[in-house]
Amino acid sequence: IEVHVCMGTAGVASGGAEVMAAFEEEFKKHGLIGEVKERNCKVKATGCRGLCARDVLVDIHIPGQEEVTYEHVTPEIVPTIVEEHILKGEVVKKWAAKKDYYDFYKLQKRYVLADCGKVDPEDIDDYIAHGGYEAIKKVLKEMTPEEVIEEVKKSGLRGRGGGGFPTGLKWTFCRASKGDLKYLICNADEGDPGAFMDRSIIEGNPHVVIEGMLIAAYAIGCKEGYIYCRAEYPLAIKRVKKALKIAEERGFLGKNILGTDFEFHLHLKEGAGAFVCGEETALIASIEGERGMPRPRPPFPAVKGLWGKPSNVNNVETFANLPLIINNGADWYASIGTEKSKGTKIFALSGKVKSTGLIEVPMGVTVRQLVFDVGGGIPKKRKIKAVQLGGPSGGCLPESLLDTPIDYDSLIAAGAMMGSGGVVVMDETNCMVNVAKFFLTFTQRESCGKCIPCRIGTKTMLDILERICAGEGREGDIELLESLAMDIKTASLCGLGQTAPNPVLTTIKYFRHEYEAHIKDRK
Ligand code: SF4
Repeated sequence: IEVHVCMGTAGVASGGAEVMAAFEEEFKKHGLIGEVKERNCKVKATGCRGLCARDVLVDIHIPGQEEVTYEHVTPEIVPTIVEEHILKGEVVKKWAAKKDYYDFYKLQKRYVLADCGKVDPEDIDDYIAHGGYEAIKKVLKEMTPEEVIEEVKKSGLRGRGGGGFPTGLKWTFCRASKGDLKYLICNADEGDPGAFMDRSIIEGNPHVVIEGMLIAAYAIGCKEGYIYCRAEYPLAIKRVKKALKIAEERGFLGKNILGTDFEFHLHLKEGAGAFVCGEETALIASIEGERGMPRPRPPFPAVKGLWGKPSNVNNVETFANLPLIINNGADWYASIGTEKSKGTKIFALSGKVKSTGLIEVPMGVTVRQLVFDVGGGIPKKRKIKAVQLGGPSGGCLPESLLDTPIDYDSLIAAGAMMGSGGVVVMDETNCMVNVAKFFLTFTQRESCGKCIPCRIGTKTMLDILERICAGEGREGDIELLESLAMDIKTASLCGLGQTAPNPVLTTIKYFRHEYEAHIKDRK
């Protein structure tokens, strides 16, 4: 019998450790820990299984019986669950998950997250028991680096960090660069408001990221690698550190990996939490010990990256997709999703929606399905007003565009973008000018200040938004915002500046009447 307790950040914050201790105490009390196999109960810490709003979530696994999940578990209710469910076989209906819990998973296809919430993230043997490190074994035994790249190209995998660039093609640039020493970097600097996909993957299953990096390192020819993770993710950092140490001890990292001459040394670099360090060249500068500021491109990192050596950067979710592709084949992977956006995408669903949490859906489902079928709709019987996709670089889609399919190209055509996967839902009580101001306040603060259009332009836009929200908007302000936005997008050096005006532009496009109403109601 196994009891799985959510020990992701939300689980820990809700008292997961105390719940685990309570189960252990009850098991001891009832003699359920010991030599008699049939009566042996184990409490296992797992990562996030998705519906964070219901933590602490606990799954009870009794051989031959269906798994039962309990929501909002506290140490006080643990004795009842043990006595009724584990000892007498009676599910405690009062606390067992109801239909709306299972509805949350109906449309989802949890492939990348399959083991998140199932394996113990601090136990490499549990990962191996779930098929972990089989993909890198297959790659090293049966495939040349070129074949791995071809397989990834064939799968159609596109970078999950935001840009959506084809992953296999990106690898060919770094592989083709001259030099013995090449670097592979995992971008775990997730910093968008409302985004927690990468953190949850690392916290829940750090070995899948390491395995994905091993596959990429072999394909590209990298001997050294870094996981760049923001220090504001202490649980993720603790688990990555532990995973790196044990993976090296067990021969999955270092020299002569799995008895071959493949060599890959992987290190952790803690970032200070600057949003701009999600940009490749700023991230590289930060690893080098410099201030995290973007550098002009070319030269591109694939040619001259970390310490001047060819480097390849992918994000956490991209790496976590790779073992799946190798284990199941490119054709299987390419059968999921749409023509140009293959596989699944992980989103962090938050805001005015009933079921908030971490979700994974096949590309091509609509934004409406995400909010209503997965998220359960809007609380308090209110109407939906908009959905912000892609974080502060993305855009706000109005209700009329909720049937837009979620794929890279359709979202851009609608004025939003996939981004890294933050989805914030807004209801009829939200003021869209305020929403735009919120996102611009964030990007303005996070602007590194290197180039004038972004440094001064976003500040000027923010000043205008603040005066509009304060009831002091002027005639011509909307047009001024639009014109400034286009200049900033065109002239900024990096992606932060080039996309910072997006929330303002999409809210003006779809909610212009709210801007006009603010200005008309000027004090
Ligand atoms: Fe820095 Fe903004 Fe320029 Fe990027 S666009 S380099 S964040 S000032």
